[in-house]
This record gives sequence, structure tokens and C-alpha cells, in this order.
Amino acid sequence: MSTGPTEVVVIGGGISGTAAAYELARAGAKVTLLEQGSLASMASGWTLAGVRQSGRHPAELPLATAAVARWEQLGEELGADVEYRREGNLRLARSLEEVPVIQTIVAEQRDLGLDLRFLPDNAAVREIAPAIAESVLAASYCPTDGHANPIATVRAFAMAATRHGATMRTETVVTAIDASGGRIRGVRTRTDDIAADVVVVAAGVYTARLCAPLGLDLPIQVSRVAVVQTVPLPPLIRQVIGTAGADFAGRQEVGGRFRLTGGGRSWPHQLGDLAHSDDPVLPPAEDVIAALTRGIEVLPALGDAHVARVWGGLLDMTPDALPIIERTPDLEGLVIAAGFSGHGFCLGPVTGQIVRDLILESTTAFSIQPFRRDRFADISGLTAATLHG
Ligand SMILES: Cc1cc2nc3c(=O)[nH]c(=O)nc-3n(C[C@H](O)[C@H](O)[C@H](O)COP(=O)(O)OP(=O)(O)OC[C@H]3O[C@@H](n4cnc5c(N)ncnc54)[C@H](O)[C@@H]3O)c2cc1C
Repeated sequence: MSTGPTEVVVIGGGISGTAAAYELARAGAKVTLLEQGSLASMASGWTLAGVRQSGRHPAELPLATAAVARWEQLGEELGADVEYRREGNLRLARSLEEVPVIQTIVAEQRDLGLDLRFLPDNAAVREIAPAIAESVLAASYCPTDGHANPIATVRAFAMAATRHGATMRTETVVTAIDASGGRIRGVRTRTDDIAADVVVVAAGVYTARLCAPLGLDLPIQVSRVAVVQTVPLPPLIRQVIGTAGADFAGRQEVGGRFRLTGGGRSWPHQLGDLAHSDDPVLPPAEDVIAALTRGIEVLPALGDAHVARVWGGLLDMTPDALPIIERTPDLEGLVIAAGFSGHGFCLGPVTGQIVRDLILESTTAFSIQPFRRDRFADISGLTAATLHG
């Protein structure tokens, strides 16, 4: 069966895809979003959902700052409570070796104009967050960072897009992107073909697989992070916390539950395995224990918390841990927004704007040169940013 022409097909119902669908639909484009599972069923649901500028690569910082400015009004704009709280981010030094790491981050990011403060001792840290352990030696503190409810945010983008005329189809697997004569023609799903002038691939860890048959080689590797969610606890800490070693991050949700995440580890499976079993996304016990142990080390009150859920969150990692955002020059009508490498949630509202600009204006006011795919032509000089969350 073939349906009528659609101007834009967006593949992926995470924050990148739904934000893009929203921006495009409210600008007047005819949009259909296709999601293989339910909305926010992958990274955008598994995420810690920190909304942070601190610790960002210089290339990403302007996007994060613009995103944070939008997050303030996002719930009101989308007509839903996304539980955004701008209550700060603390990055902790737990050892003498970690103190200079924090000092360097603070110095570098202050040079870039970010209000990031160095808290030089335990008393200064506990003045901001009294629940932090006495063993923590120092921290960085960014008062304008925060967090939000990821599933509520993705649903809010999707519902707002729908109000502007977009079509959302969940449980719809895109099996191929159709192209001929140097341009995009549409997509194939398991049930129908959809004609389109433009296809946005915002498919997270699946992006490389979808693009490969088009002759595009995207160096996206998959890694997995253990996530532990507790039962609701009384208010303990308002800031998102991370560590200089990037091996732990956590936050208390508005409803009281904690989300605790460990460090990322390479993922020894094939994406096809995901359709057949839950095992590939469940984290090994040692990763769960590590996330809990590091959480209790910096927030001792967590030792009494009861664990409600555990899951593994897959990350779409690029060699330099920066995303790929481009209107690809190789194929007219193809836009890629993926490879967010563990920090694409905060950026979502701006990713949507950029994708809209690239499609409707062929350019964007944001500086996206560092996110072009052709930077991977020679990856020998690239180093990966290590912080996530
Ligand atoms: C544990 C963890 C902690 C994180 N912490 C933070 C944080 O604190 N702050 C932050 O900013 N970021 C964080 N991130 C990263 C952030 O969550 C992601 O970068 C972001 O959610 C990516 O959104 P996305 O829409 O690009 O991808 P996804 O959310 O992965 O969405 C892609 C969607 O595409 C769908 N799809 C794939 N293939 C197909 C197909 N063939 N047909 C149809 N649909 C398809 C998938 O089902 C999926 O729903 C974290 C991620 C994880 C896993």
C-alpha cells in the first residue's frame, strides 16, 4: 500500500525526533513521525535527564546554553508539565586526584562565559547540598543547570506537534529509506510505503544501520549505562550530581525517586538482538552494584533506599562524543540528528530548531560545523569528551 505524499518523515520518537516534528509542524510543514516502539522507549526514556551546560565541549556549549534558556518556558509553550527544575549541577571531587580535574573544568568553562563556580572544600559543598557525604573534597557548581521529566517532555513535544497537524505513528518500524537519482523519495515500513521529500533520521543507536544502505558510513558505537531507580524518598538533594571521573551521576526526581547512573561500557550485542529479548538492555550486576556503591559514597542517605527498578540505557557514541547534525550534502532531502553520545536530552529543544532550520531555510544560525559527518573522514586526531549526564 502507498499513502499520499508527506513533506517530511521523521524517524524516531525520542526527544530529538519529537522536538523536530514539533518545530516543523508549527512552522507549517506536513510531518509524519514514525516510531518503532512507543514514544521515549529508548535513550529518551532511559536517560538521567540532566539539563546541563557544565562540562560541555566548547562546540556544544552554545547549543546547551540556548537550550537551557528555552527549557525555562518549555512546559508552558508545550502546554504540559515537563517537571523542569533549574536547581543546579554539582560535579564532585572524591579524591585528591579529582580536585584538579574539577578546577580545570571550572577554569575552562568560566573562560567560555559559563557561570560555573569552584567549591573548594566540603563545607562549601554541603552548604549548597547538606546531604552530600563528608568525604567529598570539592565540587563545581553550575546554578543554571537542572533536570526534567524525560517521558513527560517527549510526550509534550509529540502532543504539541499533533496539535500543529503532525501525525505520530508508534509501533511502526521503518525498514528502509528510499532514495534514487541523488535524492530522498520516502521510507518503507513493515506495512506501507510513505513518499517524502525529506527524511529526518533521529533514530538514536539505530541511525547508522538505517543510513548504511544509502552508502553513508556513520561511526556510531553503542555503549550501555546501568540505571537504578529507587522508591520515592523525602527531599534529599535538589541538584543533579556527577563526579569528576564521570563514573556516576544521579538526581532526585520531582516525585522523590532517585535515578542513579554508572559509567558507560561498550555493549557486546547486535541491535537485532533487541527485538528478541530484554537481556541486551539489562545491565550486568556489577554495573548495578557500582552505580549504587558510588551513589551511597557521595550521598550516604541512599544506603537506606529501596530499589524499585533497574535498566540499561544504550548510548549512541561517536568517536569525539559530539553529535552528527547535518543536512547531508550527499543526498538531497536527508537530515541526520543522532550520535548524541549521552548528552542529547538537554539539547533536544535546540536540536528541533536546527533540524527545522536546515529543512525550511537550508541553514541555521547555530554553529553546527563541528557536528558535520565529514569530520570523521580522518578520526586519528579526535578525542572523546569523557563527561556525560
Ligand atoms: C543512562 C543515560 C543517561 C543519560 N543522561 C543524560 C543527561 O543527564 N542529560 C542529557 O542531556 N542527556 C543524557 N543522556 C542522553 C540522552 O538521553 C540522549 O542523547 C537523548 O535522549 C537522545 O534522544 P534521541 O531522540 O536522539 O534518541 P532516542 O531517544 O534513542 O530516540 C530514537 C528513537 O528512534 C526509534 N527508532 C530507531 N530505529 C527506528 C526505526 N527503524 N523505525 C522507527 N523508529 C525507530 C527508537 O525506538 C527510539 O525511540 C542519557 C542517556 C542515557 C541512556
